[in-house]
Amino acid sequence: MMNRTFVLLERISALLRSEQRREAGSAGLEPVHLQALGYLARANRFSDTPQSVGEYLGLSKGNMSQRLLWLERSGYLQRTKDEWDGRVVHLGLTGRGLKAVAEFSPPALWVEAGGEDENLAAELEKVLHRLLGRGGYRGFGQCRTCRHHQKRAGGGHCGLLKVDLEPDQIDKLCREHEMEEEAERIRTPDR
Ligand code: SF4
Repeated sequence: MMNRTFVLLERISALLRSEQRREAGSAGLEPVHLQALGYLARANRFSDTPQSVGEYLGLSKGNMSQRLLWLERSGYLQRTKDEWDGRVVHLGLTGRGLKAVAEFSPPALWVEAGGEDENLAAELEKVLHRLLGRGGYRGFGQCRTCRHHQKRAGGGHCGLLKVDLEPDQIDKLCREHEMEEEAERIRTPDR
């Protein structure tokens, strides 16, 4: 069968979206709302802006703004201004937002059917990195696999942004993340 992996991933993705719609629909939540909440629950403090959510989900600015506004008005999200730069807005989950992620992302069917598989996840992660690299997309990875991450006692340090990192930030997603091989690819683009 041609493109078997693609067809399977496409089918699984459609099935999970449909299930999320069924489970969370009564709360007015669509799959894209849950994707945005799930991303923000995992994003670090440099990546929890409206622009970063849009980039991660591949949505236009207008579309993303509408979705985020709805989530905020419905009590799933709250905005706070950046401590140092008042033009920057951070998005954080409220208790209601955290509850929605815990309940619907992934949907119960995924857990019941034993969808989680460490070996499969590792293989899919490799595919994802190849796609991101080829397509020139941002990686949105964790500090622990970033070339700019420096281990420090009681946390870490970001060599790119020149800031210390609290221990709870190290496992979160970052829009500035760069794998070593990505840095090499940027240095030699015609490889
Ligand atoms: S070390 Fe990398 S992933 Fe971590 S904050 Fe810095 S740029 Fe982001």
